[in-house]
Amino acid sequence: MTSTSNASTTAPRDEEARAIYDLSEGSIEMKPLLGGKGANVAEMMRLGVPVPDGFTVTTAACVEAMDKGGEWPEGLWDGIQEALGRLEERTGRKLGAAENPLLVSVRSGAVISMPGMMDTILNLGISDESVEALGKEADSPRFAWDAYRRFIQMYGEVVEQVPAHVYEDALAAMKSDRGVEQDTELSAEDLQELVQQFKDLSREHMGEELPTDPREQLRRSVDAVFKSWLNPRAGVYRKANGIPDDLGTAVNVMQMVFGNRGDTSATGVCFTRNPATGAKELYGEFLLNAQGEDVVAGVRTPKPLAEMEQVLPDAFRELVDTMKRLEEHYGDMQDMEFTVEEGKLYLLQTRNGKRTASAAFKVARDMVEEGVLTREQALRRIEPAQLDQLLHPAIDPEHGQEPITKGLNASPGAAVGEVVFDAETAERRGKAGDAVVLVRWETSPDDIGGVIVAQGVLTAHGGMTSHAAVVARGMGKPCVAGASGLKIDAKGKTLTIGSTTLREGDTITLDGSTGEVYEGALKLVPPQVNEDFSTIVGWADEVRRLQVRANADNGDDAKRAREFGAQGIGLCRTEHMFMDESRLPAVRRMILAESDEEREAALAEILPMQQSDFEEIFTAMSGLPVTVRLLDPPLHEFLPNLVDQALHVQRLELQDGDQRELAEARHLLAQVKKLTEQNPMLGTRGVRLALMYPEIPQMQVRAIVRAALKVKADGGDPHVEIMVPLVAFDEELRRMREIIDETVAEELEQAGQELPYTVGTMIELPRAALRADEIAEHADFFSFGTNDLTQTGIGISRDDAEGAFLSLYVDQDIVKRNPFSSIDRDGVGDLVRIGCERGRSVKPDLKLGVCGEHGGDPASIGLFNEIGLTYVSCSPYRVPIARFAAALAVLDQRERDEQ
Ligand code: PEP
Ligand code: MG
Repeated sequence: MTSTSNASTTAPRDEEARAIYDLSEGSIEMKPLLGGKGANVAEMMRLGVPVPDGFTVTTAACVEAMDKGGEWPEGLWDGIQEALGRLEERTGRKLGAAENPLLVSVRSGAVISMPGMMDTILNLGISDESVEALGKEADSPRFAWDAYRRFIQMYGEVVEQVPAHVYEDALAAMKSDRGVEQDTELSAEDLQELVQQFKDLSREHMGEELPTDPREQLRRSVDAVFKSWLNPRAGVYRKANGIPDDLGTAVNVMQMVFGNRGDTSATGVCFTRNPATGAKELYGEFLLNAQGEDVVAGVRTPKPLAEMEQVLPDAFRELVDTMKRLEEHYGDMQDMEFTVEEGKLYLLQTRNGKRTASAAFKVARDMVEEGVLTREQALRRIEPAQLDQLLHPAIDPEHGQEPITKGLNASPGAAVGEVVFDAETAERRGKAGDAVVLVRWETSPDDIGGVIVAQGVLTAHGGMTSHAAVVARGMGKPCVAGASGLKIDAKGKTLTIGSTTLREGDTITLDGSTGEVYEGALKLVPPQVNEDFSTIVGWADEVRRLQVRANADNGDDAKRAREFGAQGIGLCRTEHMFMDESRLPAVRRMILAESDEEREAALAEILPMQQSDFEEIFTAMSGLPVTVRLLDPPLHEFLPNLVDQALHVQRLELQDGDQRELAEARHLLAQVKKLTEQNPMLGTRGVRLALMYPEIPQMQVRAIVRAALKVKADGGDPHVEIMVPLVAFDEELRRMREIIDETVAEELEQAGQELPYTVGTMIELPRAALRADEIAEHADFFSFGTNDLTQTGIGISRDDAEGAFLSLYVDQDIVKRNPFSSIDRDGVGDLVRIGCERGRSVKPDLKLGVCGEHGGDPASIGLFNEIGLTYVSCSPYRVPIARFAAALAVLDQRERDEQ
């Protein structure tokens, strides 16, 4: 068995690498150089699977051309002509010749598949000379003239930038003139006339004759495919999928085989398993007498693959055998394209199939049970993001509403949003934070920007393998495709289904799992994880080294986190308990207190509330560690906003009302003014606040100890860890530890009980990371607060940057990713590394965790594993993803060590 998915993505750049390989010379190992399509077709040829002959221009040649501003590497054109000569010899045909003409396809083929994003030219080689011969061969002049008009249409549009509508309008005019509806009803003579019209139209738009020499067309086509790597939609797709911009695309030149040579010809796509459910069953679609693009573009509605058995039995049997063989060979579910030309089967492409999350889990589990994969190989077949998809909410099954229409269940999950009819509006509104559903007749690759930000996609046309379906599945985005009852008026911005008309801005709900569409916003329910999911995450647990905890600050979240497999709580933010409306008045009394007594009284009110929260959490996490962090935010966060309060005072003054109320409002305003800071994130918060008002941490520590003792008395097993935020100096932690230890001792003495506990600190300021050795003297554990460490390490505001320059930085590649979602490996990551090394230099067994957002981000988890942290802590829903990503991190590390 060959493993394909792990192949490196970077092509060798050595001088010796050739720019062109015949398909017979390639293999899957050469994927970085030949791209996915080229390497897979070569591999199939190696295995003896029938494929059209051809050659591949390498990704390295494309990269070199891009590096030189589009200028081709020296000798490339000569090399292509030689490879073409060899192909002509092998096939006994000549490109564009009047006898035995060779026709080729010119297709892009990136290392990482980017469906539909780059360019393809079919039927190249058809010309005034060869068209007759082709017609004779196929015994159908109509077929030849149709191939010719398709070629000019595709070539003109892709290579010479003639607007698509120019040809479409001419085709439509011809059909209307002849009084027919379908392209297929046009005669050979009609098509011949259309070819002439297309040539004239091309000349008008190009300002020169359409080149007639197929070799020149080939040269320009290869160039256009190179350049399509840089087209905007491909760029957007790469960014959305984290594909590097510098990989380039290969170009595959392959002999054309025709699925439209009559009723013994066909074209289709198939998967070796059902990509929506993962079931091992025949899955695919085909069209008799059609070209491949007709299936993918959803222009005609294809038939289920099973029906091919009746019409093309031999080709069908060979296809089924080939599917089985290729799946075994690659050790993964395959997505294949095929053509049958006059009864003979050809495979045009095979690749690891994109699948829904639930299918990915089922396929991986089944393949282990079938003995095709080991557990570790099966883990590799799943993307961490797919766990996220399974953990998405679904529509409440109790909704009781009738759907307004039903289409294909193209990509699962529920989406609620306002209808928009074009990708640009979707993009603009989605980026502004609005929930939108993109509704299109059918999507095209140009819609990609809108698809990315939409909650879901609804199309009126196209099948399970149409563009919208493939792209949405790949992104884990709910999609209902081919809802044919839908009438869309994109200009008037309305959609009509039966008697219901919806306008832009109206809300709809999609159920991508059933294909149903509902008017209005339906209630969503939390996701249900199934047995395949639990089994595979269980396998991840056998591999991973990092522990996974959750960030939770109430009993419910703690319970959910435990159900998801959290091994404790890595961060309980105690301030969230203060924000509750029923508690805020007491908290404000504490802040506004004018004497120690007043403050003590307010704290005494808050203590039992905190205690009851802690009891719930310790109970839910009995037997597992719970890190409780002492109060972190600046106090003004618990007070009204300065402007609002000033306006409130002004209003009361104008009303000349209750004097007591006015006095209280003025007092509050004065306090807000006093506590307001220019840079609150760098101000009186965390340990600084605790040292200014030690009675606050004292109250919190008492609440923690009392809660733990109560849970213990009830038979629970609390593991208490107390954490101090925002420490920069070792002296801060030394003093805080003294306060904590003294308070715990007092409480335990009063209760006459024992309670093991530890005291640690957040490392979330650069100084703390740099002086971690000094700080470690007073800490039993560190937890890296990578949110604040990113803010202070890079010097960017976590509250403002993302809405300001940071999105531009990400768009323009000044930074690769948003550093608040995925850790800045080189900068902030280094601070974490330094903090670990220095901390462990004085305490080799120091427990080290991370509890910022990055604790649930798969890419960051790779780094934390490498650095040697003890655990990551993330939100409850991300716990399974973190468990899984931690296993992948170990496998990646092992692979790197072996190299
Ligand atoms: C952090 O800074 O990473 C952290 C976890 O703390 P908070 O987000 O509460 O500041
Ligand atoms: Mg913080």
